[in-house]
Formats: sequence, C-alpha cells, structure tokens
Amino acid sequence: MNILPLLKIAAIAALAVPHTGPERAGKLNVVATTPDFAAIAREIGGDAVDVKALAKPTEDPHFVDAKPSHVVTLNHADVLIEGGAELEMGWLPPLLETARNPKIAAGAPGHVVGSQGIRMLEIPTSFDRAKGDVHSLGNPHYLVDPLNAKIVAGEIADHFSQVDPKSAALYAANLKKFNATIDAKLAEWLKLLAPFKGAKIVTYHKDFVYLGERFGLQIVENLEPKPGIAPSPAHLAQVITLMKAQKVHVILVQPFQNRKTAETVARQSDSVVLDVAQQPGAIKGTDTYVDLMDSIVRTIANALKEAK
Ligand SMILES: [Zn+2]
Repeated sequence: MNILPLLKIAAIAALAVPHTGPERAGKLNVVATTPDFAAIAREIGGDAVDVKALAKPTEDPHFVDAKPSHVVTLNHADVLIEGGAELEMGWLPPLLETARNPKIAAGAPGHVVGSQGIRMLEIPTSFDRAKGDVHSLGNPHYLVDPLNAKIVAGEIADHFSQVDPKSAALYAANLKKFNATIDAKLAEWLKLLAPFKGAKIVTYHKDFVYLGERFGLQIVENLEPKPGIAPSPAHLAQVITLMKAQKVHVILVQPFQNRKTAETVARQSDSVVLDVAQQPGAIKGTDTYVDLMDSIVRTIANALKEAK
C-alpha cells in the first residue's frame, strides 16, 4: 500500500490542529528565529513559556535551511520573536505564509520584531539589492551590545504580558532580574576590555560592529567584501596589506563562516583566528546570553593581551 497520500493528509491535518493557546497548554508557545533571541525569551518567560528556536546555533542567521517542521512549529506558536531589519528575509517570510497563524502575523501582539527599539548602525543611504548586500536596512547583528539585549528583553516582556496577562508580574520580575544581571556584567566586561581601547580587529562578516561600538574596538576590515558576498582573492589581498600596515593581529570567525579562508589571511598577516559565536550553544558552555557574551569578551581580551 502506498502510504504517501496518507502521510500528506497527516501533514495537512497536523497543520489544521487548533492552536493550543496559553489557557489550554498552560505554557506560552514561543518561537524565536535564532537561538540568541530564544535565550533571552527563556530568561524573561521562565516557567511560563516553552521556547524553541528555528535556526540551529551553528547556522548563519541570514541563510537558515527552511524545513517543513518549521511550518508546524510556527503554526502552533503563541509568540514569534524575530530579529527584524531583514535579518531573516531570505527564509522566514515563506514559512510564515505557509504557517497561516494569525496570532503571530505582522502587527499582532504575538509578533515581536527585535530591531524595532534598536538604534540601528550602518543604515545605507542608498541601496542596491542587486549587489547582493544582505544588510539593506542597517546592520542586524545588534544583540552583541548588551544594552541592546536589555532593549529586546523589554520588548519581549511587553509582548508576553499582552498575550498572557495572567503571568505579567512574573515577566516584569524576570525582566528586572535580567537587566540587573546585564548591568553588573557589562561593568565587568567594560573593565576587561578597557586596556584595549582602540585595538584594531578584522571580522569575517560585518557581525561585530555593535560590539566594537560598545567596547571601543575598531573593526577595520571584513573578509567578505560586502555582507553576504563570499571573499574574493583580490579583496583578501587588500585586507592582508591593510592588516600588515595597521598591525592588526586578530580575525574573528563564527562557526558557520569559512575558517580556512581566515587561516590563509592569518598566515600572511601574522595574526590569529579567534573562534567566537553569537549564538548560544554554538560553542561549549555558552547556553545563556550572559555566558555567550562572557565567552566573546574573554576570548577577545585574551587574544589582544597576547598581541600586545
Ligand atoms: Zn549580517
């Protein structure tokens, strides 16, 4: 017997299952596009929420592999948290359209757009999508500034309370706790990086701009000629020349970026490749936002100390 039609029906039936709202399941079903937003949602939601991330910690947030299971997850969600500023433009819109869930539709209380309260950096004055640049509305990698994480946490708490008013006091208390932790840790991180104010760094993608701005590090070049465009030999040659001239000794690379390319540049410029991740869980011991930032700050501080 051919079970394919049955599987198809089962799949459609799964999509048609009535939404399990907070009143029925007990917990708010929260879906974040990437694990960094999921980690903050867990801090704010605590026991009142069940949080899933669509992207894996080791996936490039611009280019996530869209799967049928994502549609089911979105279909059952009470709240969706996305980074916004077109971070997920390449993969989220078709998933959302297929999931047809009014609770998380644009403008609904169950739809959080992280970038909304953020002062975006690198907003282009003119933009030509044909050139392939994926940062069309400014730089969407804003969570590596801890003060931006506080802004996003506030947005999340606000939306959780609207969707699930009975737990509003819990969300407010968790937000207060999160903010206090960030304030204390930020003071520590600023102190750790203070000796390296003005230090020059190269990154693979334009993904540490907000970190540079917060901690006084200069990101002088990127291995990608434009965000989302693979490094070309001509561009890499320019980067190597610049790194030698300006004595840049550190290249930051995330797990999904091409480490081999970075190693080649490092060999020719007397520098080191640093493995850092912006997604909790991509590197061991970084499951929370604070652990993740701790890891980023310490990795950079240690490398700059060596280079001094
Ligand atoms: Zn990017």
